[in-house]
Amino acid sequence: MTLTASWSGGGGGWSILVHGGAGHGAHQKGPETETGCRLAAQAAAELLGRGGSALDAVELAVKLLEDDPNYNAGTGASLTVEGRLELDASIMDGRTLALGAVCALSAFKNPVLVARKVLESGRHVLYAGAGADRFAREHGSFPVEENSMITDGARQRLAGYLVDLKSATEGAGTVGAIARDASGSVAAATSTGGLVGKQPGRVGDSPIAGAGTYADDTAGAVSSTGHGEGILRVALASSVIFALRAGSTPEQAASSALTMMQRRVASTGGLIVVDRAGRLAWARTTPSMAWAAVCDGATHSGG
Ligand code: ASP
Repeated sequence: MTLTASWSGGGGGWSILVHGGAGHGAHQKGPETETGCRLAAQAAAELLGRGGSALDAVELAVKLLEDDPNYNAGTGASLTVEGRLELDASIMDGRTLALGAVCALSAFKNPVLVARKVLESGRHVLYAGAGADRFAREHGSFPVEENSMITDGARQRLAGYLVDLKSATEGAGTVGAIARDASGSVAAATSTGGLVGKQPGRVGDSPIAGAGTYADDTAGAVSSTGHGEGILRVALASSVIFALRAGSTPEQAASSALTMMQRRVASTGGLIVVDRAGRLAWARTTPSMAWAAVCDGATHSGG
């Protein structure tokens, strides 16, 4: 079953919606993940209220969630089977379809900021592994001591995975944001450590345009979370964008894309979406997904 909710967020104004990852409950943190989403959404809302761009708003929201150790992104990110960090992130600008992404990045504190630098640099859209690390250094980001980003929670999640090998799809805590600004432009960003106990070199949906992230001013913006292999197979974010272009509401588009993923590849997840009018929706086929939205002057949140 798909659970959804939506808000008008219309009236030509700005709107922002963030998520803290779709999950199956086993490793969920409880109320603090909802609180972190609220704080990130409100900080981004303040930026939008001052006339800031959707692109800057989603970057800020995702950066704040990467810095919060309660999520599987940046500090607190999930670990590979070898206990290492391999971080994925992407950001997309709906005005120009400019895109920046990194995957299998090592211990850089804010992968979304590196992704933004990739977007600004304009030459390539996706850097991987050692090349992503090198790009980051050349653009003013420096790696930190890996242990400073690894939390006890991340170690426990890996230990749990190594015992029963079942928690691979229960990572939860990927973060994402979508926004529409007052000028009518949209943007999306997503950041994750990926699935708990993933193989070295495994890359999920989060840094891949059309799967984990997409933004196009002619349709809307999407950030996905959940079983990355399934999300990649069905190009989840693209499905939502196509449905918006065909006239679906954000809620219908989100719900039908997740239902299709469950039917076609038996994968679960969640997503957030904003359409070109600023209408927001979230949906999930997992038991939980922390989220928070600000639109029309009001903050909404839930898990
Ligand atoms: N989609 C992410 C991945 O597969 C994980 C998640 O959203 O929990 O890397």
